[in-house]
Amino acid sequence: MIRFMLPRNYRAGVAFAALAVVFIVTFGVMVGLLWVDQQRVIDTADRLQVRTVPEIIRHQRLARNLDRLRQEGDRVLLMTSPAERQQAMFVATLVASHPSVLDHAQAAKLARQVEGFLSETLHRTMAEGKVPAASFVEWQQLSASLGRLVDDVSVEGINLAAGDLGEVSAAAKLARLKLTVALVVVGIFLLLFLILLRVHMIHPLQRIDKALSKLAVDRPAPEFEPAAMAEIQAVEEAIGKLHTVLAENEQARLALETLANRDGLTGLLNRRHFMIIAEAELQRAQRYRRPVTIGMADLDLFKKLNDTYGHAAGDTVLRAFSLLIQESIRQSDLVCRYGGEEFAFIFPEITVDEAAKLAERFRAASADHDIRLADGQLVRVTFSMGLADASEVSLETALNRADEALYEAKRQGRNRVVVA
Ligand code: GH3
Ligand code: MG
Ligand code: MG
Repeated sequence: MIRFMLPRNYRAGVAFAALAVVFIVTFGVMVGLLWVDQQRVIDTADRLQVRTVPEIIRHQRLARNLDRLRQEGDRVLLMTSPAERQQAMFVATLVASHPSVLDHAQAAKLARQVEGFLSETLHRTMAEGKVPAASFVEWQQLSASLGRLVDDVSVEGINLAAGDLGEVSAAAKLARLKLTVALVVVGIFLLLFLILLRVHMIHPLQRIDKALSKLAVDRPAPEFEPAAMAEIQAVEEAIGKLHTVLAENEQARLALETLANRDGLTGLLNRRHFMIIAEAELQRAQRYRRPVTIGMADLDLFKKLNDTYGHAAGDTVLRAFSLLIQESIRQSDLVCRYGGEEFAFIFPEITVDEAAKLAERFRAASADHDIRLADGQLVRVTFSMGLADASEVSLETALNRADEALYEAKRQGRNRVVVA
């Protein structure tokens, strides 16, 4: 599914840069939003410290002073000695004119009212000798008002703190939510990145690795499902070219090998290569004590054939003879063009007598075989052959013995096989 999310043929650098840009922008926005909340927490905490806490202290002081005013009022009305009454009045006056009371409009108004009532009550008490009964009733009302105001002021102070703390808590909660979202976004991007990496880089690289490990000339060129990334495509194309080059090199190698190991005219093994293979074959046979026979053959009166029909006709006969011999020998036997019209053989796994029967068959076949020359004339060619047992001697000795036997065959009148 992911593979359809990206256009074909994009370059890896561009794709990953685009992903990085989207990621950085998204993450930057998230960080910005988080920063706003953090700033709100800091601002609120600052405000709590600079403004709200002194405000709360002022409220507390006001509440304490109002309460004190109430207590002193009680004393003005309830104390029996005039001195104590006057002292209470003095304190009440001080408290009523305290800056914390004057700063609060409602408190200042009530304090003035209480102060006025108390001083009037004090004067009347001095004059009458006792507190007038009506004053008690009025004081009860004023005292209750003071009590209510103390409660209100206290609650107001608490509310101030609660408001700021609530805002800090709300901002912190929001910040936590945003942080969670940011982390989830990062996680999603990471996942996306890993999936892209896997589908568009790791998998193709694994396919390339597999293809490279299996790359061989005797196997068809690896086929890839088209990759999305330009770089991967380029590597896959390069592997295809590499396979072509390998195949071309293999062809060139085979051609060179043929050139080096085969005779140009007949296509048979050349003498150099025959010697290498025959040496190995002889060693193998001798190590396992198996029979092996070496043969040397030479075409009869070939000079005459050349003289009669021309050199080109001689070449045609050499080619035809080689073809016939190659078709006649067993798969395990080996024949080479040893020189001009001379051929060497190695017959593994058979004794010299069995080889003689085989060679006799070639000889008869060749003697019966018409070769058509370029001008349409038919000619026949015979050969003489010497065979030697090679199971216990060196290749050189065996070849020499076969050669001697070949000369013996010539001496005996040609067109025959002689065993050394
Ligand atoms: P014999 O071996 O039966 O004694 O007689 P011969 O005529 O075959 O004797 P000789 O070995 O003297 O002659 C070999 C001739 O083979 C000489 C040469 O002209 C010819 N010859 C050698 N190589 C080639 C070749 O590649 N092409 C052709 N057309 N002739 C070749
Ligand atoms: Mg000859
Ligand atoms: Mg010869």
